[in-house]
Order: sequence, then structure tokens, then C-alpha cells
Amino acid sequence: KAKENGKSDCKLYSESWENSSFERLKLQHELYQAIQRNEFVLHYQPQYDLGGGGIVGVEALVRWNHPVRGLLSPGAFIPLAEESGMIVQIGDWVLMEACRQNKEWQDEGLPPMPVAVNLSIRQFMQHDLAARIAEVLQLTGLEPQYLDLEITESMTIDVGHVTRCLLAITELGVGISVDDFGTGYSSFHYLKNFPIDRLKIDRSFVRDIQQDPDDAEIVAAIIAMAHNLNIQVIAEGVETEEQMEFLRRHQCDEMQGYFRSPPVSHDRIERMLKAG
Ligand code: C2E
Ligand code: MG
Ligand code: MG
Ligand code: MG
Repeated sequence: KAKENGKSDCKLYSESWENSSFERLKLQHELYQAIQRNEFVLHYQPQYDLGGGGIVGVEALVRWNHPVRGLLSPGAFIPLAEESGMIVQIGDWVLMEACRQNKEWQDEGLPPMPVAVNLSIRQFMQHDLAARIAEVLQLTGLEPQYLDLEITESMTIDVGHVTRCLLAITELGVGISVDDFGTGYSSFHYLKNFPIDRLKIDRSFVRDIQQDPDDAEIVAAIIAMAHNLNIQVIAEGVETEEQMEFLRRHQCDEMQGYFRSPPVSHDRIERMLKAG
């Protein structure tokens, strides 16, 4: 807004900046407390097979049950958690909780399927991510094929380190997916250099499949290329039946999106899984 009104608004601009830096500090403190007080919860979004139509996996998505502001989406706190480094502790909790919950569902007799967990680049910078993952699997008793890790294309800061990490994780038997595929600068680099099992077509390409012939071509090409490389494909952000039909026609393997289900609470997903 300061830009629109020219230089005379400089003061206003800096005041709102100071204000927001105070807000940031406050949020950072609250986030720190949230970790101590364990205020995070996981919601789960089902992933559907485009052939059979059934649920074949779930993605764990973190929420913050804020004591005053209620349930907050990742967009409200993940960026700050990333910047401050607190994402490492939050991410570790998410990993442990998702594995624990998945194992519990299996023990209750629900159909076994992988849980997908989002990883931050910060978690890769930790001493030994693969060892921690092995430990979490051991502590929870979850078999490795029921864990899938989602990484994003921004994770190319230290390619050598990330590659070694991913190879060690793959050796455990845990799956690796590239999230938000197509939005980074290094999509092909990822496919060429990293041991990838699956890619998730970003919802920005899926959104305009019906209106924009270029997006339709891009999505069709991503699916064909991935399959030639023996990589599975899931489309995210599927909101309409037409989008789903397009993806099915182009042999996309799986879909995730509001058209079938938004992310839901753990007891809601449990009921959905029980219903089959
Ligand atoms: P993501 O991993 O790409 O997750 C998909 C996001 O798209 C979720 O937002 C989901 O609610 C939303 N979504 C699903 N279907 C649709 C649809 O049909 N239409 C639209 N418009 N949106 C859809 P959410 O839960 O707000 O999470 C946002 C992002 O926050 C995630 O994007 C992920 O990057 C990050 N995130 C979530 N949980 C974690 C976590 O535990 N650790 C880390 N590092 N990041 C996380
Ligand atoms: Mg994800
Ligand atoms: Mg995504
Ligand atoms: Mg996305």
C-alpha cells in the first residue's frame, strides 16, 4: 500500500512494519510455548486411487490449537516456524505422531496404508535425519512401507547432503514424494538426481486444466514422463469431477482434493477408513 501512495506514506509503512515485527515476536513466543504445551494436532486428508476409487493413503497436515485464536492452519505459523528453526521440533512431533497414529489404526484392524508426512529442509540439516526416522519407526512399531515423506523442490540448498540423506531414507524402505511438483526451479534436477517414488502435481496446474489448454498439456506430459521414469503420480487440489475425469483419462494414479475430501480430524478419518 505504501507503494501505491508514493513516498509520503513512508512513515505509515514503517509503523505498520514495527507493529508486525512486534506481532512476529509475540507469535514466536507463543509458538515456543505451544511446543512445550503440545498444542499441535494432525488432520488427515485422504488420497484416492483413480482406478478403483478407494482411499489408498492419507496425508498428515499439522494444525495449531491456539489457546485464544483457535485452530490455526499451517500458513499462519509454518513460515515463522521455518525461519526461527522451531520447525525442527514441530516436524519431529508430526513424524512421531503420524507414525504412532498409523500403527494404532493398523492395530485396530483398519486397512493398512501409508501416511504421508511433510518434511522441512531444516529437518534435513539436522545431524542424521535417516537415523531419527529409523528410530521413530522402531519406537512406534510402524513398518517402513507405511511411511511416505514429502519433500519440496526448494530443498536443493545442499544437494550432496540431501541426496545422501534421501538414499539412506530410501534404504530404510520409506517412500519419497516430491510435493508441489512443477512450482520450483529444479523439477527435472530432482527427478534425475534424487531417489523419488512419487510426485505430486501442484494444484496450480490442476486448477485450470479445464480452461487452459497449456495447463492440460503440462499435466498430461508430467504424468507420461513420470510413468516412463517409473515414478507414481498423484494430483493435488482436485476440486471438480471434470478435473478428476481428465486425470483419470491421462492415467494419473491417485488424487487428493476437496472434490473427494478436505483434510479432516483423526476421528473423522478413522470413520472414513472404517467405512472403506
Ligand atoms: P501441502 O503439503 O501441499 O498440502 C496440501 C495443502 O492443500 C493443504 O493445506 C490442504 O488442505 C490443501 N488442499 C487440499 N486439497 C485442496 C483443494 O482441493 N483445493 C485447495 N485450494 N486446497 C487444497 P494446509 O493443510 O493448509 O497446508 C499447507 C501447507 O503447509 C502444506 O502444503 C505443507 O507445505 C505445509 N505443512 C502442513 N503440515 C506440515 C508439517 O507437518 N510440516 C511441514 N514442514 N509443513 C507442513
Ligand atoms: Mg504435502
Ligand atoms: Mg502439496
Ligand atoms: Mg501445493
